[in-house]
Amino acid sequence: MTGGDGAADLLVVGAPVYTADPARRWAEAVAVGDGRVVAVGAERDVAALRGPATRVLRPRGGLVLPGFQDAHVHPAMGGLELLQCTLHEVDPAGYDTAIARYAADHPRAPWIVGGGWVMDAFPGGVPHRAQLDEVVADRPVFLTNTDGHSAWVNGRALAMAGISAATPDPPRGRIERDAGGEPTGALHEAAMDLVRDLVPDPGPAEREAGIELGQAHLHRLGVTAWQDAAVDGVTLAAYRAVAERGALTGRVVAALRWQVEAGEAQLAELQELRRAHDPGRLRASAVKHFHDGVFETRTAAMLDPYLDGDGTPTGDRGIGMLAPEELAGVVTALDRAGFDVHVHAIGDRAVREALDAFQAAADANGRRDSRHQIAHLQFVHPEDRPRFRRLGVVANAQPFWSCLDGYMRELTLPFLDPERAAWQYPWASLRRAGAVLAFGSDWTVSTANPLLEVEVAVNRVAPDDRGGEPFLPQERLDLPAALDAFTIGSAYALRLEAETGSIQPGKLADLAVLDRDPFDPAAGPIGDARVLATLVEGEPVHADPALDLTG
Ligand SMILES: [Zn+2]
Repeated sequence: MTGGDGAADLLVVGAPVYTADPARRWAEAVAVGDGRVVAVGAERDVAALRGPATRVLRPRGGLVLPGFQDAHVHPAMGGLELLQCTLHEVDPAGYDTAIARYAADHPRAPWIVGGGWVMDAFPGGVPHRAQLDEVVADRPVFLTNTDGHSAWVNGRALAMAGISAATPDPPRGRIERDAGGEPTGALHEAAMDLVRDLVPDPGPAEREAGIELGQAHLHRLGVTAWQDAAVDGVTLAAYRAVAERGALTGRVVAALRWQVEAGEAQLAELQELRRAHDPGRLRASAVKHFHDGVFETRTAAMLDPYLDGDGTPTGDRGIGMLAPEELAGVVTALDRAGFDVHVHAIGDRAVREALDAFQAAADANGRRDSRHQIAHLQFVHPEDRPRFRRLGVVANAQPFWSCLDGYMRELTLPFLDPERAAWQYPWASLRRAGAVLAFGSDWTVSTANPLLEVEVAVNRVAPDDRGGEPFLPQERLDLPAALDAFTIGSAYALRLEAETGSIQPGKLADLAVLDRDPFDPAAGPIGDARVLATLVEGEPVHADPALDLTG
């Protein structure tokens, strides 16, 4: 507190406070001193802490809640993409124009690099190089899609990489081809690297600028902490540089990327990276492993084969990046080294194999206070749902995907039997089974706006189709459960729950202030709410210009 007079530095009054503390879910006011919550409760009691120098924030008609924590997001990459040729939030009809404009604005760039195209803009989810060749013929183009699992390249890029009809698919990847075997300009999974390896790397200054842009984007949306869900050594160095100059205002868990090809020899290197980034706002305490791909390109690892469009089983069960016993070995070694293991698993087979690996680690090493987690969880076999609680594995969920969007209607449901179609994104079932649920956006795959994500978790309807049919409505969450998953739930996944994630005396004053109260039925759709202010330790890292913070 300031001045030793017992007065608070800041009071937040005049709007309901959703605390995410199960013992006291609601309060009227919060007082902050020295960056921590010093009181939360009735306005009358909290207002008694006002002194002459106390700032007062009055978000009338709004809602105060803990700062959102995004348990799975890619802000370093997303920020870089904002500096590149971005197709995020571009209408597909405008892709050609956007790419042409970027190329014209960057005449000296040797490559046109960027991302953000959506698969459902193209027949069968696959774009063609001919479209790019008409826009940029003189330079190579490399554009990833929103989920980062596929790339769209032009003829120049294919030629530079030497990819032709004679090029075999690399292990764990696929080159899209026409009937004659000619590459058509779409590359999936490891096949992307054939071109990506030729793209010049961004320098440290560009990476640091990307991190600051990504951070500013998250702060504007009320996010105060996140897990960057695939960080390599150079990105970690950039994070560290930003932190060292005091510009890292968010709390960050860097999940270091496990390189399948490098094997267990990389463990010592990961431990070294972790050692160099001890407490503070940046921690490299997790390791991320991609165990499968995505359903839309048939690279998700499924228990039963994909169907073809006519409903006939294909014999294809997708790609598991490691054999189950290899995965168990990796997870056991990482667990023994004290890492929190974060596994990407979309298919029901990938989820099961990840759970089996966590079981193997517990059998070999004994149980410890781990924060192992499985992210995405598109298909979870009903028999596997209780295992999250039994094994203490966090369900790291991306709620924005649990609706009937184009990906679901056109690229998913036609290739599934109805029984498995109903196993998708089972948030309510996992919660009922006792799993800890942590929400993340996976931006730039999806919007980073937690309020839009929460809206889908609550309604199972896409925000651009609000009158539409809910997807598996029995898996809807209520609003408190969805907000908890984006605050205290993800704080647990990030090992930040003792200090943040709920508004309680003694915790750090990381807060988000909304312009309306989504619990009020008159407030309209949840995702329409805007963030007026984002505070980290009581200091604004984002503030709407209209907001009076002077008191
Ligand atoms: Zn991701």
